[in-house]
Amino acid sequence: MVRPSDGKVPQSVAFIKCVGSRDDVKGKSYCSRACCMYTAKHAMQVMEKIPDGQAYVFYMDVRTAGKTYEEFYQRSVARGAQYIRGRVSKIYPRGDRLVLKSEDTLLGMPIEVEVDMVVLATAMVPAAGSAEMAKMVGFSTDKDGFFQEAHPKLQPVETFTGGVYLAGACQGPKDIPDTVAQASAAAVKVCGLFSKSELATQPMVSEVDPAKCSGCQFCVPICPYKAISMVSRQEWVHGHKVEREVAQINEGLCQGCGACVGACRSGALNLRGFTDEQIVAEVDALCL
Ligand SMILES: Cc1cc2nc3c(=O)[nH]c(=O)nc-3n(C[C@H](O)[C@H](O)[C@H](O)COP(=O)(O)OP(=O)(O)OC[C@H]3O[C@@H](n4cnc5c(N)ncnc54)[C@H](O)[C@@H]3O)c2cc1C
Ligand code: SF4
Ligand code: SF4
Ligand code: SF4
Repeated sequence: MVRPSDGKVPQSVAFIKCVGSRDDVKGKSYCSRACCMYTAKHAMQVMEKIPDGQAYVFYMDVRTAGKTYEEFYQRSVARGAQYIRGRVSKIYPRGDRLVLKSEDTLLGMPIEVEVDMVVLATAMVPAAGSAEMAKMVGFSTDKDGFFQEAHPKLQPVETFTGGVYLAGACQGPKDIPDTVAQASAAAVKVCGLFSKSELATQPMVSEVDPAKCSGCQFCVPICPYKAISMVSRQEWVHGHKVEREVAQINEGLCQGCGACVGACRSGALNLRGFTDEQIVAEVDALCL
């Protein structure tokens, strides 16, 4: 264990948790979930690998929700890690050491700690380019930029795009056990998909009336699931064969969201089971 700045072994190390996470000012209100435990692990390593090594941990809360996590945290405290509840307000150099100014909210007084190295537990954020990846595959991201699951409780590995599943930190901050569990679930979902000779699709999908479609392509970028493409169609007009482009729905990809229907100015798109005539008939029936 060495300092990146000069390669010296640090005798004392301060860890600062929740750096960027749980901070609305930084735009990240979420908890990064893994840092409480890996900080406890790193503090333990300072004390075990460096003779007389001392670890200080500045924290807001200690979150140990996981099997044997609380016991591990308690072991790091028993081994000598000094947990200080308080936000560090300033870090400045003194010689080749660093001074941390903070408050100890449990003691209710300001404190100053001098160490050889400071380690920040920074917020887990989506990988660069993940928004482009989501756009390319055709699924959405949540307010923090992580890939959006279809339902947080009932469909945690599915996306709104059929056949696309999520596993790991791309869906949200998580540690290795949760990643492995989610990845195993996603793998089983894929096996389930491939175990059938036929695929069941949504019955409520959009359909195009090619005779009404003007080929304006307005609907193509509107579909969030990339289910609409343009295809060539041959027609007879006044005894002449003409070829023109019309929209086509991929029923395997369409999720029946209906976004395209409202966008089609030619009235060429309809959602099966929710055609204009059916909706008007429903309204009529309600009003009678
Ligand atoms: C500092 C730190 C310490 C941690 N310590 C622990 C710990 O002690 N215990 C624990 O349980 N968890 C720990 N975690 C959490 C753990 O790292 C994650 O839970 C785990 O890595 C998530 O696995 P993953 O496969 O989802 O993502 P990753 O491990 O991040 O793997 C994603 C992979 O996808 C690649 N990739 C990204 N974009 C693309 C692309 N467009 N095309 C191709 N490849 C791409 C990346 O290069 C990467 O290899 C720690 C996290 C951090 C940040
Ligand atoms: S896991 Fe712990 S250190 Fe990380 S953001 Fe949540 S509370 Fe803060
Ligand atoms: S279905 Fe409607 S919006 Fe789409 S290309 Fe045809 S006319 Fe344009
Ligand atoms: S209803 Fe239209 S916009 Fe929605 S998924 Fe189907 S084709 Fe795409």
